[in-house]
Amino acid sequence: MSKSINQTLLEMECKKAILLASYLEAFNELLQETYQELDLPKLIYTPCIFIKLISGENSGETFMVEPDLRRAGSYIKINNTDEFIPPDEDEIKLEHQRLYCFMHAFTHFVFHRSVYGAKTVEAREAAMVVIADIQGFLTPPAAASRKQRHGSVDCGQFHLFDLVTHTARGDSSMGDGGAGMLNSFMNAHVCGDACKQLGLVTAKGHQKSFPRPLKFVPRRAMPWWFQQAEKDHEAKVKAQSSASTNNATSQGTENESSNMVQEPREGAEVDDELVGDESGI
Ligand SMILES: [Zn+2]
Repeated sequence: MSKSINQTLLEMECKKAILLASYLEAFNELLQETYQELDLPKLIYTPCIFIKLISGENSGETFMVEPDLRRAGSYIKINNTDEFIPPDEDEIKLEHQRLYCFMHAFTHFVFHRSVYGAKTVEAREAAMVVIADIQGFLTPPAAASRKQRHGSVDCGQFHLFDLVTHTARGDSSMGDGGAGMLNSFMNAHVCGDACKQLGLVTAKGHQKSFPRPLKFVPRRAMPWWFQQAEKDHEAKVKAQSSASTNNATSQGTENESSNMVQEPREGAEVDDELVGDESGI
């Protein structure tokens, strides 16, 4: 991969991290307002640093650096890149069930916020964001555990990283499954109690932001280098999964340097129409 293509892909990753960090900040505030009595871990998108060498033998090389949290907390995978239905409670450890519940609501929250204010179908399509491949490290409270700090209790943090974003155009970053994934999300998502308590559902039970019926424009043709980069990544993921199975922790933390770890695109099918109730934002 050329230096310029690698740089473009890493810049997309960094922009995605900034976007998701802002969504998480807003979601944290909403959780605190809604569940004042609950001790919830703070949701954080793991910060990343973009580095470009400007001299020396490797001048022009670019890197994305993230902190290594493998020893700081326990790895938790919430869903996969094309998975929008939460697992059965029986499959989740009791102490993690609340986190799963809130991260499920977070997917709805991001979608809701992304289309908020868009007045036309075209504007909504352009703005839609669905997140997937939610994973992170849950770290315990600081040494002075559960101590009152700035008026709030330290309940630990959930450090998310390497999430996938799906958009109608399919070009937000590597792993973006395009309009087909937006359709999958809208068809599969079932609001849980948190969606309702956080105000993402109307009094009639409709999901506030799901614009139905909706026609998607065909997926835009990706630049050749984007397609090639995704093919390369897909081959790499397959090789990794065959080399080491059931090693989720190491799989999830490989993008500490310039390597980008995203799930391969799962398909670009475009549904012509969604059938359902029309509901406003
Ligand atoms: Zn929901």
